[in-house]
Formats: sequence, C-alpha cells, structure tokens
Amino acid sequence: MDTAVYESPYADPEELRPDAVELDRGLLTLEDGELGAGNFGTVRKGFYRMKKGDKAVAVKILKDGGGGGGGVGSGGVDEAVKEELLREADVMRRLDNPYIVRMIGLCRAEAWMLVMELADLGPLNKYLQKNRHVQARNLTELVHQVCMGMRYLEEHSFVHRDLAARNVLLVTQHYAKISDFGLSKALGADQNYYRAQTHGKWPVKWYAPECINYYTFSSKSDVWSFGVLMWEAFSYGQKPYKGMKGSEVSAMLEKGERMQSPEGCPAEVYDLMNLCWTYKVEERPDFAAVELRLRNYYYDISN
Ligand code: AMP
Repeated sequence: MDTAVYESPYADPEELRPDAVELDRGLLTLEDGELGAGNFGTVRKGFYRMKKGDKAVAVKILKDGGGGGGGVGSGGVDEAVKEELLREADVMRRLDNPYIVRMIGLCRAEAWMLVMELADLGPLNKYLQKNRHVQARNLTELVHQVCMGMRYLEEHSFVHRDLAARNVLLVTQHYAKISDFGLSKALGADQNYYRAQTHGKWPVKWYAPECINYYTFSSKSDVWSFGVLMWEAFSYGQKPYKGMKGSEVSAMLEKGERMQSPEGCPAEVYDLMNLCWTYKVEERPDFAAVELRLRNYYYDISN
C-alpha cells in the first residue's frame, strides 16, 4: 500500500506545515464532479502540490450563502456554517493518527475550503451496501481500525459525537479512517464530559441514554455509538432501528432491550456490541478496553 496515506503529509521534514494551516490556492487543483454533499456545501476531489509531489485530496467547499438575508455575513458566506467549518478544522488540525482523516489545511479563496487527505472508497455504510462479499474477518479488521482511532481520541480527550458508519471513510477495503469532526469537542483538563446547552440536530439513534437524557457527552458515549457502528458494519450498511422514531428507540433502550444480532455476525462481536450498549456510563467499558478485546479477537481469527 502507498505509505503516504499512513503517514502525516507533514511527517516529511522538508514539508513546511503552514503556520495558520492556511494553504496557497495556487497549489490546489480541483477536479470536476462531487465526492459528496451536505448542507454546508460540497466535497470535491483535487490535488495539492507538496514538496514530494501532488497529493490527492478531498476538499470540503462551503457553499456561498448567496442573495443576502439573515445570517449571511461578509463575502456571502453563511456565518454559522463557516464557524462550524473553522471549529471542525481546529479539531482536525490537532489530530495525527493513521485511522483518522488528516487535514492538510484551510484555503480561503473563491470559497472557504477544508483540504483533507482523500479516502477514495468513500463511506463504509455505502461501500458495504454494494459489496456484500466482504468477509466477517475483513469487517472485524475495519472496525478494529476505527476502534484504534477512537482509542487515540479518548487518550487525547476529544469526543467525536457523530461516530457512525457514514462517517468512516475507506482508503482501501482494508483501511478505514474516521472523519467528520463537525460535532466534535476537545474536553478541558479537568473535564471528562461535555454538556450541550440545547438539543441540536442530533443523530439520536447513535446516542447513549445520557446524551438524550442529560445532554452529556464523553468518550464513553462515543463507545455506545461505536457499538451501533459495529452493528451497521456487520449488517452491511443497514439502518439501525429501522422504521423507528427516536422516542421509540429511547423507550426500547430504557426497557433494557437492544438491537438483535445481524445475520451471520460472530457471537463475540455481538457480545461486544452489547457491552458497548451498557446503560450506565460508569459500567460501560472505555475504548482502551474495547480495543484490546477487538484486537485479541481479530488476532485469534487471523491465525
Ligand atoms: P461530510 O459532511 O464530512 O460527512 O462529507 C460528505 C461526504 O463527502 C462524505 O459522505 C463522503 O462521501 C465525502 N467525503 C468527505 N470527506 C472525504 C474524504 N476525506 N475523502 C473522500 N470523500 C470524502
């Protein structure tokens, strides 16, 4: 495999990391066509010229707020969307792990652009929907990689808050990276959780009971989401709690019920999902424990 995806582009001592991570627009080329889209704008493929050659990148381009009106600030960009992009960039800038999509930098030109390393095969859920032949061992390998990335986030006191198969991107069928840090928070030194002031546009089916009931988010609530992500992976990208409303999901969880095992899912993996769905935060394992268990299981089935 090309080791460039494994290492930070700034691992090269000759490559200067831009000071304010502001990139030179002249070194960035954008290709036609979209890799994805969201309410922020679009994601396009491109290349960024670095000392060792052109690096394939994904560029999140903020849409122009256009037409004036409420919330539209200077330059026609929706201020709230811009703030979110800058917050996302601020989190990504501080992370450096092989299983997390790296930011190359920010570029402010015809639009605000967040330049990231490219994960060509796209989101895990969509990939698995189209590739049912992927074997359980391969799925275990991928979720274990996600778990290693999450262990890194836990060790560095970052809470992701949007961990789901749609936010895991594939570089190859055997290499996954965590993306989308739009909802992420860095915890303070004496803080092990973040409390939201209000209920936002939340992915409630991925959220632990304490997120819904008390608006508190920690690495342990990311562990709950990771359980849902494992369920998605072993169901080949099906929607969790299909056809249910958020309130129905909460009622089900409060009764102590959990999703059933996906068809063909190994018992060890389903047991681990259930462990991630431990109701009480203090009894739920952390990523260090979940990663160790997944690693041992993956090594067992690999020999
Ligand atoms: P996001 O809002 O960050 O989830 O991005 C929207 C979509 O753009 C994703 O679902 C992917 O299809 C695509 N995308 C985002 N980042 C990347 C990346 N680094 N490499 C490849 N595709 C990406």
